[in-house]
Amino acid sequence: MVDTLNNWEDGHWIGQTLEVENGVCAVPKKMKTGALAYTDEVRAATDHLYEQVSTFIPKFEWPAYAPLVHAINQLKKQKNAVILAHNYMTPDIFALIGDYKGDSLGLAIEATKTDADIIVQAGVHFMAETSKILCPDKKVLIPSLRAGCSLASSITGDDMRLIKQRYPNVPIVTYVNATADVKAETDICCTSSNAVQVVESLGVPKVIMAPDEFLAKNVANMTDVEIIAWHGRCEVHARFSATDVREMRAAHPGVVVLAHPECPPDVVIESDFTGSTKAMSDYVSDNKPKNVILLTECSMSDNVAMANPDVDFVRPCNLCPHMKRITLQNIYECLRDEKHEVKIPKHIAIKARRAVQRMIDLPPPGKKGHFDPKAVHKDIKVI
Ligand code: SF4
Repeated sequence: MVDTLNNWEDGHWIGQTLEVENGVCAVPKKMKTGALAYTDEVRAATDHLYEQVSTFIPKFEWPAYAPLVHAINQLKKQKNAVILAHNYMTPDIFALIGDYKGDSLGLAIEATKTDADIIVQAGVHFMAETSKILCPDKKVLIPSLRAGCSLASSITGDDMRLIKQRYPNVPIVTYVNATADVKAETDICCTSSNAVQVVESLGVPKVIMAPDEFLAKNVANMTDVEIIAWHGRCEVHARFSATDVREMRAAHPGVVVLAHPECPPDVVIESDFTGSTKAMSDYVSDNKPKNVILLTECSMSDNVAMANPDVDFVRPCNLCPHMKRITLQNIYECLRDEKHEVKIPKHIAIKARRAVQRMIDLPPPGKKGHFDPKAVHKDIKVI
């Protein structure tokens, strides 16, 4: 598969890639000597951590992971750094080195509360940009310059300016999965947990939602506000189908199906519950279903399973190739060398912050963040 993703530093994410560089956890290269060897010191500092990831990492591979975990945790102390670990990170990153864990907005808000000097974003580029927008005085690093997003790369600042020319009186609600220059052209941002609430907060009869077509369609089914959608899609969630859900139910009678609202609307109709990654995680913790399927990125099930050992997870596996570009190895190198710093031109950052802050200032969405599978399906305009 040809990789057409541009370096994010030039501001143009025009492509996407399906190349996957590693699987469930990227097994680091085993070092027999030097700073990253599995020494007695490393063993003493890390062996108590192994239990958390024993389901995912075979014991014989632990000597390859432990030195990196130890080195990263030491670097964090030396440099007063924190790691923001998204729910889609592999369990080694999520459980062993993440200081704050959650969805993209939750992580960015946590970032504003930390007194750390350095933030390492264990996630994709738009998340690192959001952290930088909200924490302009901190050094924000991203471990891989190639950790993009098919949604973020589906729309540019120029596209937004054209939309505004074509629909001058219609406000634009932009999902946080967008670049800083797109956020800068938007009226207000939203996440998958507050999208309905944000749309209704504007008090207007019609809004444009970008860049996720399916999120926009799912929101349209939950509100009387007319929605016009941009045509972007998450390459991970768009792959789930209603047929998949029916086949999974037939293969696993009684299973509870939870979907993310980036999935197509017919998947939402077939599911028992639809909400953000946090809402799905909370659903499992609160309801403890015997058997559950999370229709989202693979690592999410792994991470929610760690916190709910009494729940059985059926794991349909759609990997996000962009998320999987973040590894223990490149987190270590990025923090050690303080490389791949996120920089956003000030005039863009100020405008983007306004749109993000306007969303943060809304009250928590509560049940407004859940999508009703029985909601009446509407056809909406897609541009
Ligand atoms: S899972 Fe989808 S929305 Fe999230 S980073 Fe990957 S491509 Fe983007």
